[in-house]
Amino acid sequence: MTANRFDPATQMQQLRAGARTLGVDLTPAQLDQFERYYQALVQWNRKFNLTAITDYEEVQAKHFLDSLAGAPILAEELGVTLPIRRPLHLVDVGTGAGFPGIPLKIAEPRIRLTLMDGTGKKIQFLQQVIDELALSNAETVQGRAEELGRRPAYRGQFDAVTARAVAPLNTLVEYLLPLVRREGYALIYKGPGAPEEFVAARKAIGVLGGETTRMVPVEIPFVEGRRFILLIKKVRRTPDLYPRGQGLARKQPIR
Ligand code: SAH
Repeated sequence: MTANRFDPATQMQQLRAGARTLGVDLTPAQLDQFERYYQALVQWNRKFNLTAITDYEEVQAKHFLDSLAGAPILAEELGVTLPIRRPLHLVDVGTGAGFPGIPLKIAEPRIRLTLMDGTGKKIQFLQQVIDELALSNAETVQGRAEELGRRPAYRGQFDAVTARAVAPLNTLVEYLLPLVRREGYALIYKGPGAPEEFVAARKAIGVLGGETTRMVPVEIPFVEGRRFILLIKKVRRTPDLYPRGQGLARKQPIR
């Protein structure tokens, strides 16, 4: 028989310990939200492919903890742990099954979250998770970032944008930077190839109005290998030409 009730003594223990290592203290109520998120993920995954990772421990490490690695950086750069007058508005582009956006939102409920993805099935799943976890100030939008980034309702509207496993950096920055307000940040989750990708994207970052602040090496508890979070600050408005349509960001990245 499977237990429906959350038992903090036995569930999400890797996550709890690992988050603490990352500097994020999760309450029993937050761990309960992660548990329910996990259950929804594996249940939907039987019918629709959301993730190749479904093992209980692996999801905690490779999805939840990896996503949470950005939380201290976000807090530091944007002052989300300080009293703020309005909620920080964050958009997670190409969020898929909700990474890193939902873990960041659970850890820092004061964030106002927009989850963006091109695929309708993923948006349906995300909407159910938002409802099931009773996440307030969270919404979804189905669409391609390079199209939404031309619309006034989205362009330059966000304090921060995140993305993990969406596109090579030189393409990705054309999706992300148009969405961010001036003085806002992009937090980009990358693997060991980040330094090389950065060299190839340096021109694009500048053209789009960004300035690289830091490339932060991160160690994810219980996960082998080197990861990076690249922090780009938006210092100028993005020229009207960008983002370009017709797949040009992908087929002909700015160089
Ligand atoms: N960020 C998640 C999912 C990565 S898979 C994670 O790290 O697990 C990439 C996702 O990005 C897919 O769900 C795909 O639909 C979406 N995507 C790719 N390009 C996009 C674009 N230009 N605009 C919006 N969504 C995009």
